[in-house]
Amino acid sequence: MARRAPKDSSDLGLRTSALGIYVHIPFCSAICNYCNFNRGLYDAALKSRYVEALRREIGSAPETSADTIFFGGGTPSLLEPDEIASIIRAVRDRIVLDPAAEITLETNPETVDRAKLERFRGAGVNRLSFGVQSFHDDELKRLGRIHSAERARAAVRDARAAGFDNVSLDLMMWLPGQSVDAWMANVEGLIAAEPDHASLYLLELYPNAPLKEDMARAGWSQAPDDDAAEMYLRAMERLESAGLRQYEISNVARPGRESRHNVKYWQDGEWLAFGCGAHGTVAGVRSKNVSGTEDYIARVTNGGDPVSERRRLSANERVEDALFTGLRLVDGIDLDGFRARYGVNVWEKYGPSLQPYVDAGWLVRDGSRLSLTRAGMLMANEVLAVFV
Ligand code: SF4
Repeated sequence: MARRAPKDSSDLGLRTSALGIYVHIPFCSAICNYCNFNRGLYDAALKSRYVEALRREIGSAPETSADTIFFGGGTPSLLEPDEIASIIRAVRDRIVLDPAAEITLETNPETVDRAKLERFRGAGVNRLSFGVQSFHDDELKRLGRIHSAERARAAVRDARAAGFDNVSLDLMMWLPGQSVDAWMANVEGLIAAEPDHASLYLLELYPNAPLKEDMARAGWSQAPDDDAAEMYLRAMERLESAGLRQYEISNVARPGRESRHNVKYWQDGEWLAFGCGAHGTVAGVRSKNVSGTEDYIARVTNGGDPVSERRRLSANERVEDALFTGLRLVDGIDLDGFRARYGVNVWEKYGPSLQPYVDAGWLVRDGSRLSLTRAGMLMANEVLAVFV
């Protein structure tokens, strides 16, 4: 497959010194049978106390500057637009927020209509990331999702009508009972919805997922590995032909619509994190808040520290993390830039372990550039294990 030869490590033009801000919202209307995130069932009173705690935590954040906010969950769109507005105000009161900041809200299609989306827009949200997962109602049911395919399509139309010009959709592939053709119909559904960005994830079944029991009971199974590889490769080719360029293992975007927030994770950027279970990295220090919602509220409300783990990364860990995440990007890493930033000659250190993957056609070394091929992206876990 022909690959672009990028010029330098800032190919996406997205690396800035400003921080990102992640805000975790741990509430969902129903719990999906495959979900392993930090979330619980929605409770209006608990939500109000949680939003208050979030504002307090943000109010004691270090004074700094940021250019992205990402509301993730859980289902952040279960919050009222006024609550989202109050959290953004709390950020602005404490942190210098770029006037053109990217402000993303993860949104479940069943939680919004056009009027609510207009109010989110008015609150300052300028990017929506919809958890669509599938355009087949039977697949959505199997996953325990409570929206229909038509509701997902309508939500995207509502978002456009509400003035959003930056809309992302999430799809999941390799679902129980899903054929390659059924998956490709989802990809066509995604293209027809005309998003600016999309994330495609392989379903991962964690050990005690209720979905595993459902599968055993109903006799559903996942397609063979070879089919999963075909799903991935065909989807990426089809999306690129529709103008959505792959820029990361699981992510595609129209030019200029790459997720500025998520790129910070992959380019060894820095971000503050607020809310239960949220983890951030600033100045080489990684921290994680307590996971429990009540525990988090109690700590913050009592003026305590919500952080349960705080650790300075060693120089070696930073290098390994930067390689591990940087190679997820299609543009890969610039070895010269890497040496200038971290003082490490990657090829000298890891070359002998990486050469077999170059020989196998999974990695390409092109001048100063090291990147995974698309075939290599399918084997990323194996290749990237060299660094951990
Ligand atoms: S909506 Fe998302 S966070 Fe909530 S249960 Fe489903 S997968 Fe998990």
